[in-house]
Amino acid sequence: MGMRRGILFVLSAPSGAGKTTLSREAVERIAGLEASVSATTRAPRRGETNGVDYHFVTDEEFRRSMENNELVETARVFDAWYGTPRAPLERALLEGRDVLLDIDVNGARAIAQLYGSDVVRVFVIPPSFADLEARLRKRGTEEEAAVTRRLKQAREEYSAYPEYDYLIINSDQEVAVEKLRAVVEAERLKVSRLKQGFTPWT
Ligand code: 5GP
Repeated sequence: MGMRRGILFVLSAPSGAGKTTLSREAVERIAGLEASVSATTRAPRRGETNGVDYHFVTDEEFRRSMENNELVETARVFDAWYGTPRAPLERALLEGRDVLLDIDVNGARAIAQLYGSDVVRVFVIPPSFADLEARLRKRGTEEEAAVTRRLKQAREEYSAYPEYDYLIINSDQEVAVEKLRAVVEAERLKVSRLKQGFTPWT
């Protein structure tokens, strides 16, 4: 069962800050860090895999999960529903495994309220608003109207960073992953996370 509880690392960022790539890289390269796979009603984008990037579900399936209390938090982002499945999180906490959640600001608030000191919140921003705009347009997966909407949303989301524990300015993907690794490793060493009754020397 391990000597400590698991940690929930919540990563939020204005859309286009490179958060999706960062969280993918982090899960791949930081040993023992797993991704929480959200449920969503939005359509898969090019290159996304069901069960890996998201559980892509219908409105009806989403509603049923919500009613059965299988989601710890849900959010309406743009025109779709998103939700974090409860069971995998709680199992990870008990088993001392660490999970990375790529969720929006409201989701981060809900998770922090529910799981208290088991949660570490990390906010990622691009170096400037102009950079964010360039990245969003370069992605080219969306219509102009959607880009404009995401930019507006990004401005609003950005203002939430003071609620977070850590801020990573993402100008270089490699460096950003290493910064996130430093956060993960330091949080894992906290004495306050050791299980009650645990003694390092027996
Ligand atoms: P996208 O559609 O670009 O993958 O995600 C849109 C936004 O929804 C992002 O800010 C992402 O972090 C957020 N999101 C994804 N899954 C969840 C979730 O389960 N809960 C919440 N609250 N937000 C989520």
